[in-house]
Amino acid sequence: MRLSQYYLPTLKETPAGAEIISHQYLLRAGLIKQTASGIYSWLPLGLLVLKNIENIIRDEIGAIEVLMPCVQPASLWRESGRYDDYGKEMLRIKDRHESDMLFGPTHEEVVTDLIRNTVKSYKDLPLCLYQIQWKFRDEVRPRYGVMRGREFLMKDAYSFDVDYEGALNSYNLMYKTYIKIFKRMGLTPIGVRADTGPIGGNLSHEFHILANTGESTLYYDNKLFELLESEDIESLKSIYAVADDMHDPESCPITQEQLNVSKGIEIGHIFYFGDKYSKPMKASVTSQDGKNVNMHMGSYGIGVSRLVGAIIEAFHDDKGIIWPEAVAPFKVGLINLQTKVTEAADKIYKALKSDEVLYDDTDESVGVKFARMDLIGLPWQIIIGKKAVSENIVEVKNRATGEVEEIQVEEAINRFSAK
Ligand code: ATP
Ligand code: MG
Repeated sequence: MRLSQYYLPTLKETPAGAEIISHQYLLRAGLIKQTASGIYSWLPLGLLVLKNIENIIRDEIGAIEVLMPCVQPASLWRESGRYDDYGKEMLRIKDRHESDMLFGPTHEEVVTDLIRNTVKSYKDLPLCLYQIQWKFRDEVRPRYGVMRGREFLMKDAYSFDVDYEGALNSYNLMYKTYIKIFKRMGLTPIGVRADTGPIGGNLSHEFHILANTGESTLYYDNKLFELLESEDIESLKSIYAVADDMHDPESCPITQEQLNVSKGIEIGHIFYFGDKYSKPMKASVTSQDGKNVNMHMGSYGIGVSRLVGAIIEAFHDDKGIIWPEAVAPFKVGLINLQTKVTEAADKIYKALKSDEVLYDDTDESVGVKFARMDLIGLPWQIIIGKKAVSENIVEVKNRATGEVEEIQVEEAINRFSAK
């Protein structure tokens, strides 16, 4: 992509009201624009990151994708009994016929309704459906940019099983899948035992990443990092790891020395809740021994848009964002430092895939180009100066380490076209 033909409205100054670094960089690097409190437009660069996160999820999730409506009828929530309980976070709407509608904060009711008349037998199970869909929650205090928005993108998956054993299996599989997904994004996920809140149920884990700006406080056994390496899920689930009020110093089973305390950002949450929805909404199947049983359900959320902010919290420096390659909007930023070298720069640009390179072909000053490229945080920079003409040499900079290497033009082309 040629920057001269792109839409990248970067800002020099830190916008007022952006308290945390991810919010500041999201605005300054031209990834998002606030439309209303807690409601954002995603600009081209931000949208690419969002799509990359979505695609890692799609690749790993092991469930079947559907797309449910944003606007839902209140009648389904009356059936489950949650309509009155949900409170002010639910955006309630009336349509022209005076019917009560709402903008979905979550989709347990819709998905239960979706399958209840078509999934009839234990033979149809297990089933796991997911979507990547915008939610609306009228948060009391929308803040920290996309971290706590009112409208936000969530991956929500729903599992259906004939019995508890099956459901536990689906749950454990998803636990494992979450670790994989977050690791692929370059993150270190901390799974903590959680309270089940308004979703209800009796088994639940949250996934957090460590960040000083996190809204949660995590208390966990320092063995956790070792176990994360080994991917031993059973041991991971059994060690002490909780957040906020779930920690009780009196009954904490591990010693002070073993206990780590850090701030965390919640990036995902999984629940098993049995027949909480299937029972009132009559979603049952025939079991192997011919009985009519309510399906055992679980739901599994990932905050897709929150992750964009969370990843920036985890990877940045004072110059800007440092994207992990797996989610970077472009792999490479190409900078030409003078008009004399345009021919060399064009040659490299044409040899690479245009959706992997952002080519700063503008006529702005070298200082502006460098600062902007560091701010938007593409993993690699190819800097084309006068040596490109005199010696056929360009500089390749690693954004994370700052290391600069001088290499032949052809080698640069080979290296980045192979990626
Ligand atoms: P929180 O405790 O942060 O308010 P939650 O427990 O209400 O989140 P869930 O219902 O578990 O959220 O939603 C699944 C995921 O969606 C969360 O783990 C989080 O990553 C994301 N999420 C929830 N609320 C928001 C929000 N207001 N803005 C952005 N992402 C959100
Ligand atoms: Mg949660």
